[in-house]
Amino acid sequence: MWQGIAGHDAVVEYFRDTLRANRLATTYLFIGPDGIGKRAFALKLGQTLLCTEHDPAEMNPCGQCESCRLAIAGTHPDMDVVGLESGKRELLISQFVGKDDARNQEGVCHNIALRPMLGRRRVAIIDDADWFNTSSANCLLKTLEEPPPGAVIILIGTSRSRQLPTILSRSQIIRFRPLPKPVMRELALTRGIASDAAAADKLAELSDGSLTSASELADTALWAMHDELLRQWNAGGFDATRLTRDIDEFVNEAGKEADARRQRLRQLTSVFSRSLSTRLPQISEEPAVEAMLAAIDRSLDAEEQVGRNANQSTLIGAWIDDLAQIAAQHTESTH
Ligand SMILES: [Zn+2]
Repeated sequence: MWQGIAGHDAVVEYFRDTLRANRLATTYLFIGPDGIGKRAFALKLGQTLLCTEHDPAEMNPCGQCESCRLAIAGTHPDMDVVGLESGKRELLISQFVGKDDARNQEGVCHNIALRPMLGRRRVAIIDDADWFNTSSANCLLKTLEEPPPGAVIILIGTSRSRQLPTILSRSQIIRFRPLPKPVMRELALTRGIASDAAAADKLAELSDGSLTSASELADTALWAMHDELLRQWNAGGFDATRLTRDIDEFVNEAGKEADARRQRLRQLTSVFSRSLSTRLPQISEEPAVEAMLAAIDRSLDAEEQVGRNANQSTLIGAWIDDLAQIAAQHTESTH
């Protein structure tokens, strides 16, 4: 645990070594799944680099100096933090070089070239770096090509493949791993995402090391729907029409946003196929194993189709019909 941030000790060591060797780069690109603490790490690293009391190489900001206090409050004049603005799906050019009426008078690229107010350098943290458009990326590129002395720019994205080649080639890539299961279990409990140890275990098992996905999976309606699906599967008989309607309703309850509904359906297909997978080793009869493998396959297909923008109701209907058929064939073959 570094400064309240769990699971990324290897990255802490990397920066400690780099700072001791005085080899800090200008641009870092943090890559890793959502919900594992990349942004919290970047903010704490920013504070570490700006602390006026402790040598940054100690990786132990004092927490008391004016610089530390302002960094913690999110109001440090030498640290800019930007990300997607609410309702926007791209980083905007105005976030980098200012709005039309203040072009080149504000924004990350303008600020980072200014003389530091409090310390030895300026820091910029750019979250949601998966979402540059060509013009916002071009603005930043000019800064990356000729960085102001001492400046540190930290970009935060989810995958290498989503970054523009021009930005990739100028960045030092730092990989953040999903949080280990024991850390997930602990965080699920301390942050109140899980109500008890059993729920924390389940979330740690299913969330792929991401707190964002753990919070989503903590949805009790999701588990009620999953349990009903599993009950009908175990009983070997599906009330397909009714189940399709119930799942459709459940998905619609996620709200008006198509993304939120898709996400909910994806979660249901995903937790169901994982539930079947974890039960697989307890089954020994060949036909039952085959039926279960077919159901897992079909649910993984459904999960993939959700991402391809398939029509929600049609997708649910086809998935449940196929599961019902697999269950029926299996029941026939065993009688
Ligand atoms: Zn300090």
